[in-house]
Amino acid sequence: MKRTRKSLLLALGWVLLSLATTLLVILMQLITTVTAQQTPGSIIVESTSTPPQGSADEGESQHSQSSRLSPEEIARQQTLIKADQLFLTGKISEAEKLYREVKEPFTAKLTNQEPKAAILDPEQLSPAGKVYWRESTAGIAHNLQTRTLVPLQLLVEQYPEFIPSHIRFAEILKQYNRGKEALDILERAVALYPNESTLIQAKVTALAEAQKWMEASLIARQFALLNPNHPQASEFQNLADKNLNQFKSHIRSEIRGNAIANIITGALGYAVTGNLFGPFSAIDSTIMLLKGEKIIGESVAAQAKKQLDLIKDETVTAYVNEIGQKLVKVAGRNDFEYEFFVIPKEDLNAFALPGGKIFINAGAIAKTNSEAELAGLLGHELSHTVLSHGFQLATQGNLIANVTQYLPFGGTIGQLFALTYSRDMERQADNLGTRLIVAGGYAADGLRNLMVTLEKEQKNFIPLWLSSHPGGSERVSYLENLISRAKYNRYAYEGVERHIAVQARLKQILKEKKEQEQKKYPSQ
Ligand SMILES: [Zn+2]
Repeated sequence: MKRTRKSLLLALGWVLLSLATTLLVILMQLITTVTAQQTPGSIIVESTSTPPQGSADEGESQHSQSSRLSPEEIARQQTLIKADQLFLTGKISEAEKLYREVKEPFTAKLTNQEPKAAILDPEQLSPAGKVYWRESTAGIAHNLQTRTLVPLQLLVEQYPEFIPSHIRFAEILKQYNRGKEALDILERAVALYPNESTLIQAKVTALAEAQKWMEASLIARQFALLNPNHPQASEFQNLADKNLNQFKSHIRSEIRGNAIANIITGALGYAVTGNLFGPFSAIDSTIMLLKGEKIIGESVAAQAKKQLDLIKDETVTAYVNEIGQKLVKVAGRNDFEYEFFVIPKEDLNAFALPGGKIFINAGAIAKTNSEAELAGLLGHELSHTVLSHGFQLATQGNLIANVTQYLPFGGTIGQLFALTYSRDMERQADNLGTRLIVAGGYAADGLRNLMVTLEKEQKNFIPLWLSSHPGGSERVSYLENLISRAKYNRYAYEGVERHIAVQARLKQILKEKKEQEQKKYPSQ
């Protein structure tokens, strides 16, 4: 009896939650409609994208513009083709000489954006820092709150490079039931020192203690993937699995019982039946989490294949797949089945679904200059999916249902995964994406050059996302710094000849598609 009542209460909770979510979704759609009317064509799926063309005419003119090359550009292309041929026949130094001839040196100066080198030993602190540290130690010994917390606060503010202070500060805050502040401290410290394993470990522990197991799991896995050579990499993998299991068993115990199951089935039938084309909500993402990233990616991709009129041409799909799979091999995550799809749209855009499903627009092939640039885009998107960024946003309820016009085919898949990645996520994807193309044998500046192309594309258009995302030039200089510091090779395979051939083929396909459309809908 008692159990039933508890179930009913829980059930009522679910209903209220879903009602609230529905209201929120309706509200958001209203807002979106207004925004969409004010700024036609400025909604962007991914931050590496150019604005969708407002009309077919505009698209056509941009397209032909990009295929009109100056004599210098044609000469450059020919040199790159020659260099690629040399590279592929093992004449690496001859190839490098030619690549160097046509590749401009990086423009960004090596910056000192990096914070001061991390300190782990209190002996390395300045005299003042040592005093703060000693004071806090004494405060702990005498169990005095102020005497402990004040010097720690000063330490994290004045000597953020001293890693143990963040960890101790967070630990003490937790003891005084200030868990939220503890997490904030660790969050800030990790943002400054993302490669400090002790900080990541402390953050994972704090998240798990706050019962945020999924987040804890994702952060542990990201660290392992971003630092594959770290001695503790496998330890972090285990930590990720442990927290994921904890999360799953928690969710299962929450939704046990028929009453609740019925409610879920009734209110959210589409989620259970696998039809995911509805607005997203907290409950959906909970079910999604239970189903797992892989399953979700597969079911959405299956719908996408039906609705998106994807390009099926063997030459084009084989090309994209070959590049993609080459990068998958070095991405270090084998629990997904990776697939790459091409959508017949002309703007330079792409998006990744959880579980290894990556979609690029035809424009991403048409508007890039080489295989290495396209690999850069695929590597960046692949990194989002490998690092579970979309999934992470879903667990935080940040999926934004605002891209109803992204796919004017009647499908609303864009609604589901119109993600607004955080700045840090973009950084991680730029970083890992570049590492993947290097490991895949491409010129290290593929993604960097793609960013330059994007910047040129957007010269006359300030897209919405720029207001909240790091700008193109900032990303270019970040990537230049990354490549220079890590000594990645810019003068490796660029891949121009096949790229041009696929571009020509694609142009023909798009033209035919347009003609077919016009026959079908002559009024347009
Ligand atoms: Zn991105």
